[in-house]
Amino acid sequence: MRILHISAECYPVAKVGGLADVVGALPKYQSKKGNDIDVVMPFYDNPYTKKSHFEGVHNATFNLGDVEFAFEVLKLNGHSNLGYNLFIVKIPGLLDRENVYSYDDDTERFTAFQIVVMDWVLQLQKKPEIIHCHDHHTGLVPFMMSHCNKYRTLKKIPSILTIHNAQYQGWFGYNKLHYIPDFDASGAGLLDWNEQINPLATAIKCAWKVTTVSPGYMEELKLKANDLESLIDHESPKESGILNGIDPDFWNPGKDNMIIENYSTKTHVSGKAANKEWLCNKYNLDIEKPLFIFIGRLVWEKGADLLPDVFYHSLINDDIKLNILVLGSGSSDVEQRLKDLVSPFRGSYNVHIGYEEKLSHIMYAGADFLLMPSRIEPCGLNQMYALKYGTVPVVRRTGGLKDTVIDIGDNGFGICHEQASVGDVCHAITRAVMLYKDQEEIKKIKDKIMQIDHSWDNSAKQYNQLYESLIN
Ligand code: ADP
Repeated sequence: MRILHISAECYPVAKVGGLADVVGALPKYQSKKGNDIDVVMPFYDNPYTKKSHFEGVHNATFNLGDVEFAFEVLKLNGHSNLGYNLFIVKIPGLLDRENVYSYDDDTERFTAFQIVVMDWVLQLQKKPEIIHCHDHHTGLVPFMMSHCNKYRTLKKIPSILTIHNAQYQGWFGYNKLHYIPDFDASGAGLLDWNEQINPLATAIKCAWKVTTVSPGYMEELKLKANDLESLIDHESPKESGILNGIDPDFWNPGKDNMIIENYSTKTHVSGKAANKEWLCNKYNLDIEKPLFIFIGRLVWEKGADLLPDVFYHSLINDDIKLNILVLGSGSSDVEQRLKDLVSPFRGSYNVHIGYEEKLSHIMYAGADFLLMPSRIEPCGLNQMYALKYGTVPVVRRTGGLKDTVIDIGDNGFGICHEQASVGDVCHAITRAVMLYKDQEEIKKIKDKIMQIDHSWDNSAKQYNQLYESLIN
């Protein structure tokens, strides 16, 4: 099958979160299964694009409302070591910025990106057999294919939307309706949700199939989806949840070249200790105590606002001894409160504000426990990375966390709690510290979790079945 993925992020080209990891890995595994896979994403002016070689494959102009822009589609040279064909869309003045998101004109940037992708696909000799869209940044594509006059010939290509995060929907006002190329009037209602243009809602209505990144998240969205609950419930016949995988080419303690010492299921005790020692030296922590880490965006969905109080109460509690190390960025208030804890708890607590891929790998390798008190977790990759690196996950039972972590009390391998509350997270930490005291048991759990298979093979198979059902 010939499949085109359209996404705002793709690792290693540009990553903000899990979307990049998924779009960087799933195509590779689909390719391994004999499919012909292309990924198209915006060109950002970042270190990866600066050092890579691309060749131009198409250029033209397009209109965003009344303004004409030039664009170019470039292909990464060779089939590349990515395992699929990577195309990037260059729109000078709109997409060529350093960061992926958070510009005032993101609506213009991503609407333009989608128009250009459609224009490019329209003139391809060999058209994709499936168009796979990811999140709201590509949510207008299924609508454009089915209702824009210009793209009428693409109508018969099945489109799929994968929802990685339904919190962000790409809303914009009707004053920008003229950005969307001419469409038949019967389609107007498809763009609307609560009197706004809502690209995520539009994609849920127009895509032939809708998936979420875990089965648990699909069910939760019917109850809580930032205002889209009724739509998601209504469209349920075409929806399903497919759990993300992880890419062992990048996430594998046996061959990860970012970590301090590699290790296997047989050598994890010494291997993890070497990584932990490096972290403890660098961040002034105590190697004798269990090391808890948090890695992620410091936002409400991740429960990051709970962390300062959770850490304060855990670190002043004389009954439990622990280290905590945080890596992340986000809310300035949370960042400040986390930094304020460094001085009173020097020697057992530290925080690194920022985005550091290499450090994140060393933390998964060197930690004993990973904290994820998420309020919303569509799939969550961190807990799967933690398992692979022999780090025990301490998670709130929600979304993909519920699908992937079983509590030790239920014959499982992790620690789960119900509420995203300071009390529940503190209690879970206390349980983890108690568990850590039984080194024999901890070793057994680490042996077990490192062997859980979360590779992409199974998920890639499920996506293939979905595509086949549409083509047939
Ligand atoms: P989300 O996409 O909602 O942020 P996921 O769990 O799906 O959450 O994916 C998060 C990904 O981003 C993981 O690969 C995680 O290691 C990485 N990550 C998040 N924050 C940071 C950070 N500050 N530094 C390095 N990696 C990070």
